[in-house]
Amino acid sequence: MDPLLEVSGLMVNFGDVPTVRGMSFTVDKGQTLAIVGESGSGKSLSSLAVLGLLPPGARVAGGSVHWNGTDLLALSDAELRALRGEELAMIFQDPLSALNPSLTVGYQIAEMFRRRRGASRKAALERARDAMTEVGIPDAASRLGAYPHEFSGGMRQRVMIAMALALEPGLLIADEPTTALDVTVQAQILRLLRQRREQGLAMIIISHDLGVVARSARDVVVMYAGKAVESGPVAEVYTAPAHPYTLGLMNASPSARDGHRTVTPIDGNPPDIAALPGGCAFHPRCPFARERCRTEEPRPRMLARGRTSACHFAEEVTSHGAAFDHAGA
Ligand code: SF4
Ligand code: MG
Repeated sequence: MDPLLEVSGLMVNFGDVPTVRGMSFTVDKGQTLAIVGESGSGKSLSSLAVLGLLPPGARVAGGSVHWNGTDLLALSDAELRALRGEELAMIFQDPLSALNPSLTVGYQIAEMFRRRRGASRKAALERARDAMTEVGIPDAASRLGAYPHEFSGGMRQRVMIAMALALEPGLLIADEPTTALDVTVQAQILRLLRQRREQGLAMIIISHDLGVVARSARDVVVMYAGKAVESGPVAEVYTAPAHPYTLGLMNASPSARDGHRTVTPIDGNPPDIAALPGGCAFHPRCPFARERCRTEEPRPRMLARGRTSACHFAEEVTSHGAAFDHAGA
């Protein structure tokens, strides 16, 4: 079976600067893929490119994006707009930025049913109420007339999810969906998304939080400086990272390690994407780096079925990483 979404060699330039430098991944029906990395690694841009929502100044410079066999990069703006919401949906870290502050939540959800489904005013409001109930907003009927600022952060994120899922899309891209939320609400939102996945929804979760990834995704792509440096099933990647950057993220993440180990941040800072170091872009921060790393850029290699690493010394890293006790998902 072909994957629902197939992204291949995607490149995104910001002005003249290559910012996403060749990203490939696939998502199947009912699968959740996580894209992780520090801010500026290109994870948000990769998914915005998929939806045709790149910010001004950014453009796709190469590669291909296929959804259900359709080449998304070849679609017109109008065709893409029609697909968004219907088949491809996105939620953001800050729901306030995506909601209109001066319109009631009920009206905003109902509008989608009116515009896209030709529902009557009354029917649309009923469907809005049902959509809110489905994402666990208590007493939805009486909340239809409330404004976005009258909801808590967690409830606003539920409203966003209700809107994103209202027209039953096949793919949901969630960019840091729980970053602004406390741990309890975070768990509720992740549970909600998991239920949708069980109903067949394909998802991409973008996160810098390895704990969130462990709780929500089957597969993970780790990005650094605009490239995928490692990918594979979450369980395998977390047990035996095959790239020093992944290993560093693991050691830097209290939630991925469940507090079992000392938290050690990765040395140094993410590089300036406009002035990347030669060879392997990670080499100035890499404890495994040696001469070859300064001159030769590593290509992604398949290590095992479904597992890739872009490190010259992946095998060495894996044996090192596997020696760590692992807190698991
Ligand atoms: Fe580190 Fe070299 Fe691997 Fe890059 S290629 S991650 S510098 S060991
Ligand atoms: Mg981002």
